[in-house]
Amino acid sequence: MVPPTVTAVQRRFLNLHEYQAQIIFQKFGVGVPKNLPAFSVAEAVEKAKEIPGDEIVVKAQVLAGGRGLGHFKENSFQGGVHIVPKSKVAEIADKMLGKTLITKQTGEEGKPNNTVLLAEKVSIKDEKYFAILMDRASGGPLMIGSKTGGTSIEDIAAADPTAIIRTPVDIIEGIKMPEAEKMATEMGFTGPQAKEAATLMANLYKVFIECDCTMLEINPLASLTDGRVLVCDSKVNFDDNASYRQKEIHDQRDTSQENPIEVEAKKYDLNYIKLDGNVACMVNGAGLAMSTMDLLSILGGSPANFLDVGGASTVETMTMAFKIIMGDPNVKSIFVNIFGGIARCDHIAEAVVAGVKAVGGNAAIKPLVIRLEGTNVEAGMKIIKESGVEAFLTNDFTTGAKKAVELASQ
Ligand code: GDP
Ligand code: MN
Repeated sequence: MVPPTVTAVQRRFLNLHEYQAQIIFQKFGVGVPKNLPAFSVAEAVEKAKEIPGDEIVVKAQVLAGGRGLGHFKENSFQGGVHIVPKSKVAEIADKMLGKTLITKQTGEEGKPNNTVLLAEKVSIKDEKYFAILMDRASGGPLMIGSKTGGTSIEDIAAADPTAIIRTPVDIIEGIKMPEAEKMATEMGFTGPQAKEAATLMANLYKVFIECDCTMLEINPLASLTDGRVLVCDSKVNFDDNASYRQKEIHDQRDTSQENPIEVEAKKYDLNYIKLDGNVACMVNGAGLAMSTMDLLSILGGSPANFLDVGGASTVETMTMAFKIIMGDPNVKSIFVNIFGGIARCDHIAEAVVAGVKAVGGNAAIKPLVIRLEGTNVEAGMKIIKESGVEAFLTNDFTTGAKKAVELASQ
């Protein structure tokens, strides 16, 4: 058995779909237009009957922003958000369901759209922006608001930095109504609407705290012609470190929206993130993995991935790690960078050798560079030299990184 090392656990934030977040919001008394999700065209037609009005909003459900301006890959259908007469729901849902939506946030591969949200068409007078996030500078939650919304907050801030209102919230005291009302007024809500907006913000703050959110972004926060204030779109992130006490929320994770290789890696406790370069990295420890990526870049190379194998260097995880790395067609060389601490070099070397052999030996992988240093380094080197696995072997980080860059550029 390989003793577990203390590994930096990478923080990830669960991202839920708009329709899932809307259900949570309603539980906390946050106003939203009446809405229902549909998973098939037939269901969309049926559910549309339950939404008031002759017209209806049909919205693609993918975990990426900019849906309104996106387009579908398979049929070039423009727009992931449509306002249509109810008689057209079947036609529109058919063009969206089971298709891939490309937005400026998804990259050209897009995200699969398996659900449409049907929402009541509300008459929007004004679109505002509102968010709550954890702020390093103030050491607690920070409310951010803007008089204008709808478009991305980066664009709003670039056009007019003074449009952005920031109000830190004391995490012990919680949000106070005068504070929320002041914020609402600064965001352009007047008269009784300012009170209504303030109540909505206070309720969103409850969601933020009680559901262990790391960020909650409402865009647009809509001011309606009939005076109501409603959340028309949201992006909410939940802290993975709190998943043990937010099971109901975290069980709703939609892995179809994530990179399938990253999902597979997570099952093996491997922290893998795909990048664009051609030097695959396999490193123990998140800090060393980061510095490996930096050094490769400094030396003129480019990492194909971040991969922290942690202390979990068993034959099974190493085999999986090589499979994952070789699943990326851009990879031209592999840099295994191990610093033996509590996890000993000889144990890791054995697992690396077994992993290479399990995927089919050197012939099945790209040129290999192995750097070993630390506990039992001599024994580790010996295992690799005698294994029959071909690798450029070194103790030195820079030497190894240089060789990996050189091999990738051949
Ligand atoms: P995003 O493009 O992914 O941010 O999707 P949104 O849900 O924000 O939708 C884009 C835009 O569609 C919004 O900014 C609104 O202008 C419009 N929209 C969304 N829901 C409604 C609605 O119920 N009524 C009206 N009139 N417009 C809406
Ligand atoms: Mn939006």
